[in-house]
Amino acid sequence: MDTDIPDRLIDWFRQHGRDLPWRHSRDPYAILVAEVMLQQTQVDRVVPRYLAFLDAWPDVAALAATPTAEIIRFWSGLGYNRRAVNLQRAAQWVIAECGGAFPRDVASLRRLPGVGAYTAGAIACFAFEADVAFADTNIRRVLERQWLGGGAAGRDATIQQLAERVVPPGRGWWWNQAIMELGALVCTARAPACQRCPIAASCADYAQRRAAPPLIGLGGAPQRIAERRSTPFAGSRRYYRGRVLELLRAAPPGAPVAYAILAQQLAGAASAAPTDPDWLRQLVADLARDGLLVADDAGARLP
Ligand code: SF4
Repeated sequence: MDTDIPDRLIDWFRQHGRDLPWRHSRDPYAILVAEVMLQQTQVDRVVPRYLAFLDAWPDVAALAATPTAEIIRFWSGLGYNRRAVNLQRAAQWVIAECGGAFPRDVASLRRLPGVGAYTAGAIACFAFEADVAFADTNIRRVLERQWLGGGAAGRDATIQQLAERVVPPGRGWWWNQAIMELGALVCTARAPACQRCPIAASCADYAQRRAAPPLIGLGGAPQRIAERRSTPFAGSRRYYRGRVLELLRAAPPGAPVAYAILAQQLAGAASAAPTDPDWLRQLVADLARDGLLVADDAGARLP
């Protein structure tokens, strides 16, 4: 690759990267919290919740020891509630298996409950400054466009090999922060701002698009790169899982909410709510299996 790509990208990041609180930390616990929150939630919504979370549970021991219901209550509004349970399970694992000290290498970090390849790599890099490669959607998109081009969607193994090849030795923290930030701010999914991209000169995708004849009728408007359609949320199973947990959060601590009340409240919230009692029992059973509630014949409550 062009040998000055790391310099150009990191210089750009130093000037234009956002000042985000987790970028000031090398605490693996804080990095884990940030990465788990950022998995499904936008940065501007994560920032205040990340700071509040660390105020409430400043270290891994505090999180491991707290009642799970408190964490699920805290998670209200962030969505994908299973992340709250996994976060605590990871904290409990670090206490039980490692005496409270996070492992430092990717293979060991992947043993934490709920921690996959990306999060393990992010902790190793952003907490311990290891020169490791990993790819979230933003990194992956930049890698594909910059080095593969042609609107290519590389296989996971291809992307991982590419990511490993391009991490500059000794600068893994800066590189991964920078390439991730470029994907978030400039090389976006729908409309990459190639004119202000610091690595446009070496970009395979940009070169191919400039070489291609303009599309008739577009009048020189920038071509938009197709984005995956999202599926409707309201009425989905995930929607009802979230609704059930909101109802349990509103109940007094420790008090179960009867199935009849849950069914009534769900019907009030969405006119098309399924009315089959077996469907509701199955939904509650799934949430219980994920550790998000406790259920018996009396009803369901937070754990
Ligand atoms: S030139 Fe455009 S497509 Fe290539 S990396 Fe930069 S923003 Fe992305």
